[in-house]
Amino acid sequence: MSDSTRFKPGKSIKLADYDPADTGGVKNKGAAEEEIAAGIEKIADLSFRLYAEARRSVLLILQGMDTSGKDGTIRHVMTGVNPLTCEIVAFKEPTTEELDHDFLWRIHRAVPRRGKVGIFNRSQYEDVLVVRVKHLAPESVWRPRYGMINAFEKLLTQNDTTIVKCFLHISKDEQRKRLQARIDDPHKRWKFNLGDLADRRHWDDYQQAYEDALNECNTAEAPWHIVPSDKKWYRNLVVTRILLRTLTELDPHFPPAKENLEGIVVE
Ligand code: ADP
Repeated sequence: MSDSTRFKPGKSIKLADYDPADTGGVKNKGAAEEEIAAGIEKIADLSFRLYAEARRSVLLILQGMDTSGKDGTIRHVMTGVNPLTCEIVAFKEPTTEELDHDFLWRIHRAVPRRGKVGIFNRSQYEDVLVVRVKHLAPESVWRPRYGMINAFEKLLTQNDTTIVKCFLHISKDEQRKRLQARIDDPHKRWKFNLGDLADRRHWDDYQQAYEDALNECNTAEAPWHIVPSDKKWYRNLVVTRILLRTLTELDPHFPPAKENLEGIVVE
């Protein structure tokens, strides 16, 4: 697979140079869905091996503007995967208890245990995104967090957690359409918050905050991927590929039997 969604650590990127509508030469939805279905089967098998092995874990972080498809990606990529083998956590506004600790406290507690594939829907990055854009803390508080996040992610990777971070990149116009659909479609209304419109008014500030987070926290240990997400099928395909490649590289194996089972017959 080509690695066009990744960029070199140390290289500074501009989000405006990445086309959210890119489909990477994949012809159409049908072609993508075939590859996704085949990919999910392999992901299911590899995740089960990882679970049986119980030595290492994978953490997939999903970040993106409202409607970029964090929930939809999880639904598509994890459907068909044994629920025993994965853990999905969504991070909302911190509770008072969480606010009484450092910002990584709730994150660390949610890191997948050995053997699991964990998926974060939002993450530690909210603390340099929404916190920055909405001025929930001064710059003297949020800016040092890039370094803290890098150190935290290094700690995790050195303790057998492989981290993959996906920024689901949508255009402002695509977000407009998706928000409108949430208002118009009675089955989608439950997802709509008036606050989403307030966030949309800060679109440029969020793009800047994302760009900085991507540039500051794109390490060799925990790289960012910029996932073109205007086409849902391409977004799902890219994340499927990334997860499949990560698990393939880990190459998990079923552990040997705990005892010598040679010749034992169950009566
Ligand atoms: P969704 O992720 O589906 O949009 P919600 O509508 O419940 O779910 O939104 C979660 C909200 O929690 C988002 O507005 C997000 O910015 C906010 N949030 C998450 N983490 C933090 C944080 N550390 N500080 C402040 N707000 C946060």
